[in-house]
Amino acid sequence: MVSTIPMVLAIAGSDCSAGAGIQADIKTSAAFGAFAATAITAVTVQDSTGVQQVELLDAQLVAAQASAILADYPVTAIKLGMLGCAATVEALVDVLQHYRHIPLVLDPVILASSGARLLSVEGIAAMVEGLLPLATLVTPNRSELACLSGTVSAGNPASANGWQDQAAALLERGCGAVLLTGGDSDGDSCEDWLFTPGDAQVFRSPRVKTPHTHGTGCTLSSAIAAGLAQGQTLVEAISAAKQYVSEALQVAERLPGGRGRKGLHHLYRFEV
Ligand code: PLP
Repeated sequence: MVSTIPMVLAIAGSDCSAGAGIQADIKTSAAFGAFAATAITAVTVQDSTGVQQVELLDAQLVAAQASAILADYPVTAIKLGMLGCAATVEALVDVLQHYRHIPLVLDPVILASSGARLLSVEGIAAMVEGLLPLATLVTPNRSELACLSGTVSAGNPASANGWQDQAAALLERGCGAVLLTGGDSDGDSCEDWLFTPGDAQVFRSPRVKTPHTHGTGCTLSSAIAAGLAQGQTLVEAISAAKQYVSEALQVAERLPGGRGRKGLHHLYRFEV
């Protein structure tokens, strides 16, 4: 029997506190009714106060996981999160270039919000060179966009025009679209800008006032991947993903927590 359940391959690092990383990807896929397979890139040790340790897995082992799933299963979207280093980026490019027909959402995870480095400088260069050309959508925040576009980090430009130039630099590298996420900025509304060749569109949602935002970027990009896996357009998938993230942030407080920040409540739709 042929399954109609959409399938996402999430390629990302493990967050043992389960707010971000591959754990967020699996729960987000489940919340959207998609089946998630995984390729684990790293094991991180972290709690609600931050990241204590990062162990990258062997690049060929990461690529082998992705390759095994892609060769055997009907994957309908791929999501990339924490990749760690250039060797892993390059090994994945070797695999993913054979699957260009599958929508690919690239969350360019560089630093955790607690400050820990999750992608090396060489890894950033390898990502720009090899992964941007394969991405349907890349979902940077402002500092990741500056970094990927090669803008000297002398502060972020304050206008949409500055972002447009930076996004254009990424589009020139071959990615299909850039979603500049605004969750980490200020203001009463959260503005995410979608840049495609020749067009820019803003998505606004009321800003949810909560300290419990750990894993928001991973979750947004996974939710978009789940929508694309179901055959939604980019705009439909982004709209639905933003609404899901807002709702999951609003009820994050209800989750069990430690001394610091909680992650968002991915499975709020299934709470009993
Ligand atoms: N840990 C892992 C494994 C991640 O993939 C991410 C995602 O960006 C983070 C931590 C960062 O989480 P945050 O910056 O939302 O706290």
